[in-house]
Amino acid sequence: MSATEALVEALRAAVSDPSRVTTGDSERRLHSEDLTYHAGRDPDVVVYAVDTQEVSRVLSVADEHEVAVTPFGAGTSLEGHVIPLQRGISLDLTRMNDIISLWPSDMTARVQAGVTRLQLTRAAAEHGLFFPVDPGADATLGGMAATNASGTTAVRYGKMRPQVLALEAVLPGGRVIRTGTRALKSSAGYDLTGLLVGSEGTLAVITELTLRLQPIPEATTLTRVSFADIETAGEAISSVVSAGLAVSRMEVLDEWMVRAVNNFADAGLPEDPTLLIELSGSRAAVDADLADLSELLAAHAPTGRVTETDPTAQTRLWRIRHDIYFAEKAVSPGRENRSTDVCVPVSEMAGALRASRELIDQHGLQAGIVGHAGDGNIHVAILTDTDDEDEMARARALTDALVDDALARGGTCTGEHGVGLGKIDALEREHGDLIGLMQAVKRVFDPKWLLDPGKVIAKPHD
Ligand SMILES: Cc1cc2nc3c(=O)[nH]c(=O)nc-3n(C[C@H](O)[C@H](O)[C@H](O)COP(=O)(O)OP(=O)(O)OC[C@H]3O[C@@H](n4cnc5c(N)ncnc54)[C@H](O)[C@@H]3O)c2cc1C
Repeated sequence: MSATEALVEALRAAVSDPSRVTTGDSERRLHSEDLTYHAGRDPDVVVYAVDTQEVSRVLSVADEHEVAVTPFGAGTSLEGHVIPLQRGISLDLTRMNDIISLWPSDMTARVQAGVTRLQLTRAAAEHGLFFPVDPGADATLGGMAATNASGTTAVRYGKMRPQVLALEAVLPGGRVIRTGTRALKSSAGYDLTGLLVGSEGTLAVITELTLRLQPIPEATTLTRVSFADIETAGEAISSVVSAGLAVSRMEVLDEWMVRAVNNFADAGLPEDPTLLIELSGSRAAVDADLADLSELLAAHAPTGRVTETDPTAQTRLWRIRHDIYFAEKAVSPGRENRSTDVCVPVSEMAGALRASRELIDQHGLQAGIVGHAGDGNIHVAILTDTDDEDEMARARALTDALVDDALARGGTCTGEHGVGLGKIDALEREHGDLIGLMQAVKRVFDPKWLLDPGKVIAKPHD
């Protein structure tokens, strides 16, 4: 019997239904790659777990057989996170999709890791609540916690970390731990909940999450405003943020990106750098802030401005924004999208947006800029032909230059997508002096270095 056959046999004995352990080519291929330019690799075996005990037994088998385990949620992460670099087991959590409890009076919920954000938001809506983190994709909450995801609404509600009150997780080897409580705050010891959020599947497999919910706002408006150039749009971003208005989303698209969405979604937007600014809260607060917003924007000489109060019109615009990844790809079918993800202090947005466009042009690449402007998060979507070595090298050089620019402005190499395998070098440039400490933390959780190896930090030479 080969080592893989022995592994598969042990895994089949570890789950209640052996058909959830599969070595079929199509299942392995589905768990081999993400949506981006990163080259995929098939796992040896895919396991669909249905509860914490199964996750524990799978990690125990992996430990005995010394094979790698890569947790898999919805597979929407963008830095090669789900690629099983050392093959082994791809552990799919999507069938762990029960909303275990919803406490409307506490505005909290406890869910299994495979519940998706829209599934939770639909359940919460019955109580006038919603789950506020919105990365666009309908990702699993376990995967979103693992990447410390954010998205359009982080300007108001923050990223995943502040939403997560407690976790149940399984350590390599199979030990089940519980961190945090249902209370809204705690100072009880080291913040292991906060450490596991953002650990990108390298420290533990999250099996359950206790999450905060938010009340659905009474009123919402969406202002679409365009400017003569991207730098002016950046200046407008800083003045709106520093005015402290009831902004719940603020997105920026450069001219290239507006052209892409016009072509893809027949959006009919004026082809200038554009901001989408959502205000939400009580009707009185939104009305008052809308008047202030108009005044603030006027000072930046907008080339066009429309405020939508009709929910259908707002939903249409947000749909266009959420489909932007596919609009980008449609600009040059066949090319892969390499999405960069730097974040700078908001006061640096004007300079960072201008520099992003200049760097794109200097590198001679097809790329557009989009960003969660309200919290200084900029994505440059670079279209690359993965068979064209020169184009791939220029895309890599552009990514590095954008990271260097962000670091020079006091920012970070990743605002939300995480490190995965695509940003390991960038993390070393940003926090080189902390890599040893991070490796030591990883060793405490995962002494055999079996959980998602090759991601976030390199294994030190033993
Ligand atoms: C069109 C599009 C737009 C996007 N926009 C944004 C955005 O605006 N903001 C943003 O933050 N992200 C964005 N993303 C990225 C993506 O949605 C997030 O990274 C998401 O949080 C990943 O969740 P997932 O369920 O798909 O996890 P996966 O991609 O399956 O996994 C992500 C990582 O987490 C690990 N993991 C998964 N589940 C668990 C678990 N239960 N326990 C431990 N580790 C686990 C995996 O091993 C992997 O390392 C976007 C993606 C797409 C495709």
